[in-house]
Amino acid sequence: MMGDRERNLSKSKVMKGLQCPKSLYLSVHAPELARPTPAAVQAVFDEGHRVGIEARNRFPGGVLIDVAPTEFATALEATQAQIAAGARVLYEATFVHEGVLVRIDILHRSRAGSPWHICEVKSTTEVKDQHIDDAAVQTWVLRGSGERVASVSIMHINNECVYPELDRLFTQVDVTAPVEEALGALPSAVAKFKAMLMKQAAPNVDIGPHCDDPYECEFKDHCWSEKKIPEISVFDIPNLSTKRKWEFYRKGVVDLAQLRDTEEKLNSTQRKMIEVTLSGTRALDRKAVQRELRAWTFPLYFLDFETIGPAIPRYPGTRPYEQVPFQFSCHIQLKPGSGLTHSEYLHDLTSDPREPLIRALIDCIAENSSVVAYNKGFESGRLSALARAFPVYGDRLLGIAGRLVDPLPIFRAHVYDRKFRGSFSIKSVAPALLGASLSYEGMAVAGGSEAQIAFEELILDATSPARKAELRQAMLDYCRKDTIAMVKLVEWLRDGGGAGSGE
Ligand code: SF4
Repeated sequence: MMGDRERNLSKSKVMKGLQCPKSLYLSVHAPELARPTPAAVQAVFDEGHRVGIEARNRFPGGVLIDVAPTEFATALEATQAQIAAGARVLYEATFVHEGVLVRIDILHRSRAGSPWHICEVKSTTEVKDQHIDDAAVQTWVLRGSGERVASVSIMHINNECVYPELDRLFTQVDVTAPVEEALGALPSAVAKFKAMLMKQAAPNVDIGPHCDDPYECEFKDHCWSEKKIPEISVFDIPNLSTKRKWEFYRKGVVDLAQLRDTEEKLNSTQRKMIEVTLSGTRALDRKAVQRELRAWTFPLYFLDFETIGPAIPRYPGTRPYEQVPFQFSCHIQLKPGSGLTHSEYLHDLTSDPREPLIRALIDCIAENSSVVAYNKGFESGRLSALARAFPVYGDRLLGIAGRLVDPLPIFRAHVYDRKFRGSFSIKSVAPALLGASLSYEGMAVAGGSEAQIAFEELILDATSPARKAELRQAMLDYCRKDTIAMVKLVEWLRDGGGAGSGE
């Protein structure tokens, strides 16, 4: 028996079906198989919500259909009441057609009774293919529910906008023509989805590039295990393009033993990863490691930034999505094997974090030292941006950037452990080589996206002092963990793969 869930399809369910019918089926009949929403995805949702609210200011005087998404009958009634009353601008107007429910970000018209203009708001910096399908679903439903549509546009973030000139924050692109083209295929697609949802079993869809395109599917764990993809497989080979991974998969070359025996070209890092994983031994070229480390001069400053990159810039001179540091941790080691001192900064106000952070940083880092950053390109980029924004500190900041050294290329070239599982990120390498005490599992803040979400909450006036204290501690613990992991990894390298010293 079909329930309400199956009778009504939201726009996001139709979009899911267009990406993969099986994903739609599972989301309706077996949602418990979905993986929990990762922090990075949640951060994107939250940002999209903020952008949507900001976009409404470009169409002032509208009426918000302010009804919870689950109360769609009330939202439909409220929308019809506003249309009947002659509303010219509606936010989140809700319509249904053939069992497909949509909420339109912004609907506007020149006067009561004239055709509508649909405006869909996206937090990307360009129009993407999936946005056309998305707007086509809105248009189909709006027309199907008896309204006329004059045009359809996508309003996306303009990455040329510089704070405080937020009047340039959005670019509006007319997509009426491609939407009209996409409309033709929709009725039959929706009919197929409904018929599929009535069936007893999920459709038989093979895994493929669609599992990540345009969005990473939440049922990957389920489908990968159904297909018996090994725990470490072709999909974990470092620096192998997505295209080649799927070519191997289609040829039936999935596990590492098959890859080892293949004639196909793989680079030395990839071959090393395969050999080490199969043999269970660890690859370590001690001489090459020592050669690389010789260029690093003590004292060593182990530096890590946490950053926020809001779609709507909020600090002078910054652009949408520009990564602005709000926190750093720095462990300092004066000579090989000596104890550590520690310095840190965490901004916890709504004000611009950059200048106080710069001051704390240049107070902490002595001149003529090597500054260790894992994947230094990121820290280097942030230091250069800070130097441009605050030229008075430019020499010191560029000096730090110029003295950055990076353990990542050393690991990539000369070390491999099967527990890396194809990843050289510090979150893979540190626990693999140094054990569970260097794992990030179970930490209240355990990744960059979580740190960003925590920062947004930390700076809110509405956040209670107790919660702020909790957030601060979790954020300090996380950033500190990154730099202590670097210290231990460098000691591990210097000791030729031996045990590092304590903090
Ligand atoms: S993991 Fe891939 S095959 Fe499975 S439901 Fe998702 S998109 Fe479809």
